[in-house]
Amino acid sequence: MKNVEKCPYCGNQEFVEGKQVGYAAISPADKTLTFKSQVLYHIICLNCGAVVKSYVKNPKKIVTK
Ligand SMILES: [Zn+2]
Repeated sequence: MKNVEKCPYCGNQEFVEGKQVGYAAISPADKTLTFKSQVLYHIICLNCGAVVKSYVKNPKKIVTK
């Protein structure tokens, strides 16, 4: 799922996708405007709870002016 085959910490192969919103939304680091902020998604190991991967759906929107 989502390019993650197994947890690098415990070897588990079951993951859940989490979604982080609000203050944790990602926006361009060099901009004060937040129009381009995006929801941050996490792939979380169901066994040990490690966040194996964090990503946004449209990374190019962050750098596009
Ligand atoms: Zn794990």
